[in-house]
Amino acid sequence: MSTSQVTRALFNEVMVPNYNPQQMVPVRGQGSRVWDQDDNEYIDLTSGIAVTSLGHCHPALVKVLKEQADKVWHLSNVYTNEPALRLAQDLTRETFADKVFFCNSGAEANEAAFKLARKYASDHFGADKNEIISFVQSFHGRTLFTVTVGGQPKYCQGFEPVPGGIHHTPFNDLEALKQLVSDKTCAIVMEPIQGEGGIIPADPEFIRGARELCDQFNALLILDEVQTGMGRTGALYAYMDTGVTPDILTSAKGLGGGFPVGAMLVTDKVAPSFSVGTHGTTYGGNPLACAVAGEVLRQVNRPEVLAGVQQKNALFVEALEAINARHNIFKEIRGKGLLIGAELVDEWAGQAGQFLAAAREQGLMILMAGPNVLRFAPSLIIPDEDIHAGMAKLEQAVAQLLNTAEAS
Ligand SMILES: *Cc1c(COP(=O)(O)O)cnc(C)c1O
Repeated sequence: MSTSQVTRALFNEVMVPNYNPQQMVPVRGQGSRVWDQDDNEYIDLTSGIAVTSLGHCHPALVKVLKEQADKVWHLSNVYTNEPALRLAQDLTRETFADKVFFCNSGAEANEAAFKLARKYASDHFGADKNEIISFVQSFHGRTLFTVTVGGQPKYCQGFEPVPGGIHHTPFNDLEALKQLVSDKTCAIVMEPIQGEGGIIPADPEFIRGARELCDQFNALLILDEVQTGMGRTGALYAYMDTGVTPDILTSAKGLGGGFPVGAMLVTDKVAPSFSVGTHGTTYGGNPLACAVAGEVLRQVNRPEVLAGVQQKNALFVEALEAINARHNIFKEIRGKGLLIGAELVDEWAGQAGQFLAAAREQGLMILMAGPNVLRFAPSLIIPDEDIHAGMAKLEQAVAQLLNTAEAS
């Protein structure tokens, strides 16, 4: 089969039907621009889903990847390797953590975190201390353990029986959390900003309250920063702006800038419970992945880049408010840094997918966070002119949808 025959239609023939991708097939990208098979140009305000945080084909990442490709690709955890050790050294220097476990995805980082929390509690307090508290609408990945900890029951349906000892309580409701936590709690797990759940920031008092409850009940605070981490909110990790330090933090998505890698960061107090042989993964610490992630960290963790994330947030919010002033389409605009949600007004509730399709027709890539919220998660170094051009396209898409709705 020649490449010209590889189209979206082939997806339905050869791919398991768990996704329903857009009609165009992107073939190359540069910075915040992407081109499809017909050479149509798109402005990318998605970064995958908050993954390619330095845009597409950033020259520094391409260079590091090519250099490592000529050295060694893979070794297994029977040996260690230089890129993994350097990345772990950099991550521990720049965060609360003393130790790092590498894996390949957000779900795997969370799987490791939940297992470690159980193991730590079992080692120190006995087998009865095994309950994990998580929040309604949260998202932690798609393995059976992580969907069960996640707070969206639809992702568990049909996959039962699911692991036990997991409880959910409303997000940002400290009183309800207090009612649920007990000596049996081994961990409280939260996203600093619920991503898939609709870009809902945790109240600062809520995070602080969860930390205090963890201390009071000898439970671990796990922050899932798979989406909020690596500069996304304008801090290297979102916890850094909260005054709260977790016991375990998970990172993935933006960590590899598009190369698959995940990490669990943890303190010296907790790490020893993953003693030799207790946990592992074949690709964890892969030299290609760690070399690229090391360069992502060097590029992102600069004052001017992190400050730029805040400035670009202001450009987005201003533009979205202007669109809203003219079209009255958003109920609320929220989020932090370059993780921005715009919740649709009630009459458009459930229609976020239509906005994605309309945007695509205007040459714009955006995301949704649940059916009611448009999500913007562009490159952290997106040029200001691409933001302006993207917001102009968004306004065209909004106007076109409103016109069609009025006509019908
Ligand atoms: C995307 C995401 C995950 C899952 O990451 P995968 O790499 O898809 O396994 C977990 N937690 C949060 C907060 C996420 O946004």
